[in-house]
Amino acid sequence: MSNQVETAVRGPQAYALARDVIDEMEKARVWPTPLNFEIWLHYLGDPDGALGREIRRMLAENLPITEETSEMLAAEFLPRGRLSDEIRDAGAVLDRELASVASAIARAHKTQSDYGQTLAGASDSIDTATDGDALKTVIGGLSTATRKVRRETAALEKRLEASNNEVARLRDHLEQVRRDAMTDALTNLANRKAFDERLAEVCAEGQKAPLTLALLDIDHFKRFNDTWGHQTGDQVLRYVSTVLSRVCVGQRFAARFGGEEFAIIFPGESAGAVMAALESIRQEVASRSLRRRSTNDELGAVTLSAGFAERRPDEPCAALLERADAALYASKRAGRNRITGAPAVDRAPGQRAA
Ligand code: GH3
Ligand code: MG
Ligand code: MG
Repeated sequence: MSNQVETAVRGPQAYALARDVIDEMEKARVWPTPLNFEIWLHYLGDPDGALGREIRRMLAENLPITEETSEMLAAEFLPRGRLSDEIRDAGAVLDRELASVASAIARAHKTQSDYGQTLAGASDSIDTATDGDALKTVIGGLSTATRKVRRETAALEKRLEASNNEVARLRDHLEQVRRDAMTDALTNLANRKAFDERLAEVCAEGQKAPLTLALLDIDHFKRFNDTWGHQTGDQVLRYVSTVLSRVCVGQRFAARFGGEEFAIIFPGESAGAVMAALESIRQEVASRSLRRRSTNDELGAVTLSAGFAERRPDEPCAALLERADAALYASKRAGRNRITGAPAVDRAPGQRAA
């Protein structure tokens, strides 16, 4: 939960806010499930935030808020809250495991110390034993104590192994949670958060190799949705994502940048190679005639526009992103279904493009 919402739900306006949330959900015909309530609470707690803007866009377009949509909104806009729940649960399991292992070790420690005393006692008894029967009693006692130690050691080993398995399971689970928090639910591509992190990472790696960034945007997608419906639009987003995934192998990193926009990071690749990769994506998408799965209706082809920029020496990643975006905009202005590379250096004012 964001700090702002956290404060609001514990402040003097908390009940009024909760009532507003229910009213707004009813108006929007959204079921009051716990997840929807959480989403709407964040929306009304911070109406101008990214989540608020997205919900308003969906409401303005009369898009249905289904369970799938809510999951997507939560994954995209409430990642930290949900992630921290999972981490808290994992922490509780770890605490339990640690407590149980600690008590098994304490038991084993006590058994070992009892055994030490038994051995010392036996040594004294052997020194003073006068006949075979006395010796037999001492050895019988030793044998019982040894069996007890072996039992305890075996139990401790078993406990440690179970604990090891539980911790490995937990690690896998947390890894899955981390992957989910970085993945776009609709397209299975990396999401915006993952993209931002990766871009910052590659920019921080230095300038030894070239680095190129591309932004792609589906053309006239609003019109497509208006004609064929949002669900068919979603199918197109998934299709375009599969084309991107096919081309983005190795170091290349493709992400859903937001809405119908995608981004690709090309580490170690300069403008020429990137142009060829983007051109193959553009051609593949533009040449495929799509069909609606449910009705087999012929939908025609969609096209996309792209812009890319190769990083300049010491250029901050925000500036690189801005130049790729400007190049994308130039593709749109020039008629769409095309690719534009940002100039390697700024042109002097008044200077014309070559
Ligand atoms: P342009 O060629 O200039 O990019 O036009 P456009 O219509 O694609 O651009 P605009 O920004 O006007 O509209 C983007 C549309 O993308 C509007 C919205 O309905 C659609 N869109 C965004 N996210 C989704 C989504 O998750 N699913 C579906 N089906 N549509 C989406
Ligand atoms: Mg767009
Ligand atoms: Mg578009």
